[in-house]
Amino acid sequence: MKSFASILLDWYDQHKRDLPWRHTRDPYLIWLSEIILQQTRVAQGMEYYLRFAKRFPTPLSLAEASEDEVLKYWQGLGYYSRARNLHAAAKSMAGVFPRSYEGVRALKGVGDYTAAAICSIAYQMPYAVVDGNVYRVLARVFGISIAIDSPEGKKVFMQKAQQLLDGKRPGDYNQAIMDFGAMVCTPVSPQCDACPLAKRCKARQEKRVEELPVKMQKTKISSRYFHYIYVRQGNNTWLHKRGPGDVWQNLYEPPLVESQTPEENWLAGAAYKRLFGRRKAMLKVPPVKHVLSHRVIYADLSEVDLPSSCPVAEGFLCVSAKEIPQYAVSRLVQKLLEKAKVGI
Ligand code: SF4
Repeated sequence: MKSFASILLDWYDQHKRDLPWRHTRDPYLIWLSEIILQQTRVAQGMEYYLRFAKRFPTPLSLAEASEDEVLKYWQGLGYYSRARNLHAAAKSMAGVFPRSYEGVRALKGVGDYTAAAICSIAYQMPYAVVDGNVYRVLARVFGISIAIDSPEGKKVFMQKAQQLLDGKRPGDYNQAIMDFGAMVCTPVSPQCDACPLAKRCKARQEKRVEELPVKMQKTKISSRYFHYIYVRQGNNTWLHKRGPGDVWQNLYEPPLVESQTPEENWLAGAAYKRLFGRRKAMLKVPPVKHVLSHRVIYADLSEVDLPSSCPVAEGFLCVSAKEIPQYAVSRLVQKLLEKAKVGI
């Protein structure tokens, strides 16, 4: 009987997706692709990968760029800590990508999964990857009911994945099981009828495909209410660089007041008055809903007119409205500015 690994590798040899990072063994470019693809669909990540690889073809070229430029290249991709970590990691390399698993694992932003993916694909080292696709395929094929987000579950799945790894083609094997999970053994409506593992799949035999994998925790989603204020001061406007400890660190945005509830009269609150006193802001864009992994943000945009004599508030930059596209902003801010037809 064929092994689990050889069935997957045969499937992969016939069905693998032709992706640009699969044409290289350069560990730096593979790392770049892995970081871009965390939390991002392949179709969306592809364009970013090509642009990054062209502008920053080596660790040194990335290390020498400014963080603002790296964030600008990342704009629209979300989860911006990835871009900041990418930049910090490139700076720590001194021009040479690490050659050992420990060296790769020590890079900022690289966890067990990413280190295993890079080392197996670039260096053919025998490290198994375990991501959401791998959990699903293993839980279903071997009928494992232990929760994938429990400490015990993590250990069990890691051991199983390592045990199944193909020693001769570890990089291909890792990509095969992930592609298989993404294309055949999908979370919803897996293609069991066309599946080469169907005969040995416990979940299929026991009619438990929809139950597996098991997860303990449901992600708690919280709501936040953002009110952006576009400043019109002649041809200029104000921007602020977000600080640490919250979403979109180091990205730019117009002045922002946050409220606790959607009903709160934030225009009468201290945060607004500190910036604009009694001046009235007019609503330009009603609330739009923006969904992130652990929170939903409802954001609107108002506009306030300021005389040119009015001093710029502390912590803000006064820039020409035409210059806004030079600053990295979140996709939400971009959407609001586009809707208001200002600065973009
Ligand atoms: S038979 Fe269905 S559930 Fe089992 S591995 Fe194949 S696609 Fe996944």
